[in-house]
Amino acid sequence: MKNKIFLLGLILIASLILGACGPKIEAPQPVAAPAHWTYEGEEGPGNWGAIDPAYATCGTGKSQSPIDISAPGEKDLTNISFHYQPSEVNILNNGHTAQVNYDAGSYIELDGVRYDVAQFHYHAPSEHTLNGKSFAAELHIVHKSADGKLAVVGLLLNEGAENAAFAPFINNLPAEKADAKDAGVKINAADFLPAVQTTFRYSGSLTTPPCSEGVSWLVMTTPVELSAAQLGALEGLFEGNNRPVQALNDRPLVEDITP
Ligand SMILES: [Zn+2]
Repeated sequence: MKNKIFLLGLILIASLILGACGPKIEAPQPVAAPAHWTYEGEEGPGNWGAIDPAYATCGTGKSQSPIDISAPGEKDLTNISFHYQPSEVNILNNGHTAQVNYDAGSYIELDGVRYDVAQFHYHAPSEHTLNGKSFAAELHIVHKSADGKLAVVGLLLNEGAENAAFAPFINNLPAEKADAKDAGVKINAADFLPAVQTTFRYSGSLTTPPCSEGVSWLVMTTPVELSAAQLGALEGLFEGNNRPVQALNDRPLVEDITP
């Protein structure tokens, strides 16, 4: 009898161990949300590549943005042709920038490829620097081709006269993180552009995680003026939302010298 109880005990223990170690049907794991990131501290730009495997390119990429623009090769390039139309100010604050999702139908043509405007947003201070010089802010007009390639037109923003073209954006900046909302006004990105539309060009990346490469950068050589109050409104929303400049490595950097 004692032996039988002992045996039953053994079987019970063995089945408990097998149960714990054997195959189990796991509840489906939720797809991990992208890791939170910031512009300073432990989740800041220096650590972006390490805080999430999806952001690895931020740390290992050799074609990253922004860069310091200096000593570009001068070239006679085909101008960008702008086909911008007014859009509703569909504006959001994603916790990193304020962004206007642009209405469909506006685009640029670059070397025979059409890139449609998707959105514009800003960074303050500027992300690109010019011969080491930082600007008060930088506007990024993000475009996408039919096959998913990105081209970003960058505008360096300097203090000067008030710029009415930016008023519908700056007057509707969402102070807190918020989903896109129609502000009920229109804006025309065509009016953001400087009179001379020559650009610095290089191949780079998104300047925020996941820092994906293969982005055609087109930074206007002529800065655009905004008033101190307008720049103050941009600067006041975040405590610096610019990624530091990255190594150019062996990438060509060219300046289109023919308006
Ligand atoms: Zn940007």
